[in-house]
Amino acid sequence: MRASLSPTLRLAAFALASTCLAGVASAKTCNVNIEATDAMQYNMKTISVAKDCTTVKVTLKHTGKLPKAAMGHDWVLADAKDMQAIITAGTQAGLANNYQPKNDKRVIAATKLIGGGETATTEFKTSALKKGESYKYFCTFPGHASVMNGTFEIK
Ligand code: ZN
Repeated sequence: MRASLSPTLRLAAFALASTCLAGVASAKTCNVNIEATDAMQYNMKTISVAKDCTTVKVTLKHTGKLPKAAMGHDWVLADAKDMQAIITAGTQAGLANNYQPKNDKRVIAATKLIGGGETATTEFKTSALKKGESYKYFCTFPGHASVMNGTFEIK
């Protein structure tokens, strides 16, 4: 009679299922909308998300008109101390690679590079972020990050 579970095992299976359901119920996706302009600006200097967000979905909208080869923008998230190295590697990667280094583990999240009128999204798990660490978001288009950067924080 191996096919039928003993009452004890059934209870254990039920408890396990309940735990999984609780895990699903506590998952929370938080949406962030940020804009970038032809004047080489993001419209936010800081992005704060609530600490119960398990996933953050970022939507970048380029509100300008210029093409991405001239005024491209992306939204890249990384540990603050990795920002400069990622930008340098991104410049070398070139426009065809969104000015982003390929398969770079230092990049926590990144939208593709977009031009005026376009929108791009990216999402990441907040479990990828460490407590007490500083995070920055920035545009990897050459020359933009000195102005186009901001602080990402979980509150
Ligand atoms: Zn840019």
